[in-house]
Amino acid sequence: MIELDKVSYGHGGAALFSQLSLTLVPGSFQFLTGPSGAGKTTLLRLCYADLRAQRGKVRLFGQDANTLDRDAVAMSRRRIGVVHQDCQFLDHLSVAENIALPLSVADRAAEASENLKELLAWVGLSKQSAQRPPELSGGERQRAALARAVIMSPDVIIADEPTGNVDWEMSQRLLALLVELNKMGKTVLIATHDLAMIRSLKSDVDARVLRLKDGLLTTAGAVL
Ligand code: ADP
Ligand code: ADP
Repeated sequence: MIELDKVSYGHGGAALFSQLSLTLVPGSFQFLTGPSGAGKTTLLRLCYADLRAQRGKVRLFGQDANTLDRDAVAMSRRRIGVVHQDCQFLDHLSVAENIALPLSVADRAAEASENLKELLAWVGLSKQSAQRPPELSGGERQRAALARAVIMSPDVIIADEPTGNVDWEMSQRLLALLVELNKMGKTVLIATHDLAMIRSLKSDVDARVLRLKDGLLTTAGAVL
């Protein structure tokens, strides 16, 4: 689905990582861990073509991201739902309008009402749909961000610290939603510090844990 092949990237001068390779196999469930500043967010942004590899190749659904024009990148990105670390809501719009925004941007607003109701119920925000994002709790914001990420029925979900600001119960709830998406066949990649959440994952989910540190990406499953 998404493949980073010997990719190098650095903000400004020094490289954060070089020759880094990562494959998101269809249907896989992967966590990306590692200390703050290791480059997890940067790596995710490369995966959804928000950043371009400085060296190496990024392939999105079989196509070389470097050779795609802006429209083609936009088309590929519609197949990827992103949950941003800071949620990035428009505070003057309601929760429902924020969640439906990707549909309006894609000129598919007509599909909104039915999908939206179902999605709001799924993330448990039916009652909050008319509220503004600043009125929501941290966990509600994260669930709204997840709903917005999946409204276009993407093949891949990329989440950056989806449980960063929420309590244990809420992080369990968010994890359950992400697992549910994976069981529906979606490919999931989650950057997180929350090792307790990773450990809480039921053994029926075939998850891999990757660790990014000092520019190296390793499989960390065994140390957890
Ligand atoms: P920071 O808060 O500095 O960003 P982390 O929360 O990522 O650091 O890590 C906290 C501690 O857990 C560190 O000692 C780190 O080495 C360890 N750690 C982080 N991720 C993993 C992992 N996947 N497996 C084992 N240990 C880890
Ligand atoms: P993580 O998600 O693991 O905390 P990031 O990818 O956010 O790591 O950041 C990795 C390093 O790159 C950090 O030192 C951060 O300050 C720096 N960085 C991230 N984004 C930018 C940017 N847009 N401009 C300059 N430096 C950045």
